[in-house]
Amino acid sequence: MMIPLLQNAGIGMAQHETDYLVIGAGAAGLAFADTLLQETDAHITIVDRHGRPGGHWNDAYPFVALHQPSAFYGVNSLPLGTLRKDTAGPNAGHYELASGAEVSGYFHNVMYQQLLPTGRVSYHAMSDYLGDGKFVSMLSGEQTQVNVRKKVVDASYFGTTVPSTHTPKFSVAPGVQLVTPTGLTQLWQRKGLRPTRFCILGAGKTAMDVGVWLLGCGARADAISWVMPRDSWLVNRATTQPGEEFFSHSIGGQALAMKALAEATSVDDLFLRLEASRQMLRIDPNQTPRMFHYATISIGEVELLRQIKNVIRRGHVRSINANAMTFDDGEQTMHAETLYIDCTASAVEPKPMIPIFQDGKITLQLVRAPLVSFSVAMIAYVEAHYADDAQKNQLCGNVPFPKDISGWIETTAANMRNQMQWSQDKTLRKWMVESRLDGFGKLVASVAPTDTEKMKILGELRSQSGAAMANAPKLLAAWRATNQRTA
Ligand SMILES: Cc1cc2nc3c(=O)[nH]c(=O)nc-3n(C[C@H](O)[C@H](O)[C@H](O)COP(=O)(O)OP(=O)(O)OC[C@H]3O[C@@H](n4cnc5c(N)ncnc54)[C@H](O)[C@@H]3O)c2cc1C
Repeated sequence: MMIPLLQNAGIGMAQHETDYLVIGAGAAGLAFADTLLQETDAHITIVDRHGRPGGHWNDAYPFVALHQPSAFYGVNSLPLGTLRKDTAGPNAGHYELASGAEVSGYFHNVMYQQLLPTGRVSYHAMSDYLGDGKFVSMLSGEQTQVNVRKKVVDASYFGTTVPSTHTPKFSVAPGVQLVTPTGLTQLWQRKGLRPTRFCILGAGKTAMDVGVWLLGCGARADAISWVMPRDSWLVNRATTQPGEEFFSHSIGGQALAMKALAEATSVDDLFLRLEASRQMLRIDPNQTPRMFHYATISIGEVELLRQIKNVIRRGHVRSINANAMTFDDGEQTMHAETLYIDCTASAVEPKPMIPIFQDGKITLQLVRAPLVSFSVAMIAYVEAHYADDAQKNQLCGNVPFPKDISGWIETTAANMRNQMQWSQDKTLRKWMVESRLDGFGKLVASVAPTDTEKMKILGELRSQSGAAMANAPKLLAAWRATNQRTA
């Protein structure tokens, strides 16, 4: 896969030349490379520790699925999925969700059918980037020094962790049965007795997937316990659907969200309004969620998860022994045969934001949350078509990933600021409308002026947005004063 070595330095280090050196062949690195190849003549070198393209999707548990519809995930040049709707299961009525295996297969095709055939990409799997343009093959130990003509692109910033590559932060006594979600699917291989009780550890989307999977595979709801350190607000999947038939949910939903933001009197009141208008869901209506990480779920899945009644809300588990779990406030007795399922890996951790464009370096981050693929493709487009880093950073304002429920407001406001800039720039506007990764751009652009119903929704969205942006800082200030958060 390497372009010919220019020379061997004679000290055992290969030399290699490229325009852009991309660290990471996950969704971020590939979507960036794909758009940059489409927009420039650049040569790109991609280095990744994994043995296949696709990053964390290669380590995912078998029943993982993409959160968002396939229609606008992946890279710009290659569609993902078939645009069919599920007719069975808890996602029925919504567009298909790509399975983990499908996403991995897709990224394989991206590399081998889209990127490498251009003749302008060199891909180095099983290679560890050491910094300063140097990487080492994890199989041969050979080091390569890359002479980067333009920029080093850090596509590892998101640092996604998944259960199979994560180390739990709690201790486990010998004899306790602890598995990852992948281990759960391998239970059929066990010779002896299979567990009759299950305990899900963690409150994120993986834990929700495990609950849905256990129930779907026949586990009794009363055999499942669930350690839920905190409750989350969840995005109603109906609001993320790409098709025109969902216009009132997606674009109408955005208008309702803006109205809620414009009229809310506090952050909690905002979420109650978002729930009332079906933008947000929560598993237990008696709990006030304190977390929001854009986990996306269908009403069908929420209804299934509500069957699990033994929810343990005592914070983070610190240790597990034969008959109990320990929390900061004491012990919780457990059945000795319990199989614990570790879902405590945090897929997405908020990280400090840094300028995306710096001298000789691009650090891929969100410019539209939570959409990784769109964000990095936009960054590549801006890199290709704009002159200096100051202007590029201006166009690619960082969008923070939420740290808590108030983060929804900060993220929404930052998304809107970027959207406003992009819509005033003719070149960007045109690219966005043509990009498959821009979820709703085409849908909005295709509304006929004679379609009074849809035009009314668009008008409502526009008129509520101003009031929403005016109210946002007030809500955040009040939240920070109460929660003693720093800005
Ligand atoms: C279950 C799940 C579902 C998700 N669903 C969605 C969704 O629907 N929509 C969405 O936008 N996001 C979703 N996400 C978020 C997800 O993080 C992104 O979609 C995306 O896959 C992240 O890609 P990435 O390239 O940033 O990270 P990764 O997939 O982690 O790729 C980074 C790569 O960098 C490599 N690397 C890191 N450091 C080095 C080094 N020093 N040398 C060499 N290689 C290195 C790693 O080996 C890895 O392959 C989901 C996440 C999870 C866990």
